[in-house]
Amino acid sequence: MIQKFDFTSQPSILVQGAMETETDYLTGQLADAVCVTVGNWKYTTGFLGERRVPVIVSRTYQGMANAAAATALALTHFAPCAVINQGIAGGHAKELHVGDLVIGEKVVPMGAVMQEFRPEGDGIAPLGFTPLFLEIYDKEKAATEKVFAFDCDERMVAAAGTVKTGLRVHKGVLGSADEWNNQIDWIAVMRERYHTAAEDMESAAVAQMCRSFHVPFIGIRIISNSIVNGEEFDESTALLGQKFVADYIGELRGFLG
Ligand code: SAH
Repeated sequence: MIQKFDFTSQPSILVQGAMETETDYLTGQLADAVCVTVGNWKYTTGFLGERRVPVIVSRTYQGMANAAAATALALTHFAPCAVINQGIAGGHAKELHVGDLVIGEKVVPMGAVMQEFRPEGDGIAPLGFTPLFLEIYDKEKAATEKVFAFDCDERMVAAAGTVKTGLRVHKGVLGSADEWNNQIDWIAVMRERYHTAAEDMESAAVAQMCRSFHVPFIGIRIISNSIVNGEEFDESTALLGQKFVADYIGELRGFLG
């Protein structure tokens, strides 16, 4: 009798998307798909591609808290070897156009800020802030660390560069917050302070959980809108991003031990 693969104890890769349009293709590609509910989130386990890579597809829902919760539950329940947070994003860099791909080298929680003091009646100074650290608890060290940004796993970044694709591929910084920024001058400030290539609403929250759990992480985003280039929102780019990620997962065998 063939032993059934156990996703809670055998090595797998967790791939996430916030919206249905960001996960439906990947879910549809899974062989032997099984839906698993953990807490308030649903995950689909299965095997991807000819190499039958064990994958868990997770729909996180939009925003930082949803993404963090979906990640913490998955890391606890399935103990995956690597996490890919993927989906659509808004371009910050002018050289990025709708349909271009950004491989995250670093992700920054750009909403975490400490305002400088201003007395009553002195007005509002939007630029008067410095980044605020995030507190990460490390169970093994029984200590917390203060983190301002998260590096994506170097090996995962290198593997992403080897995928054959017709997309224009860039590497850079992803900025995340529960924000959708449309002010060009504000985006310029984000680029100046954090060197953001694009913005999304999940990847830094996921990176924070992965850092806490010591699990390799990468953020991969396809540009669906670029206010800096006057390019309107096109959610359908999510499909091209997922196709890239499906091919990419085939390159991640090294992570499965
Ligand atoms: N029609 C959808 C659109 C949501 S787009 C709806 O109303 O629900 C927002 C999602 O795409 C977020 O999960 C975020 O990660 C990503 N995203 C795309 N473009 C973005 C942008 N310019 N700023 C922030 N998040 C963006």
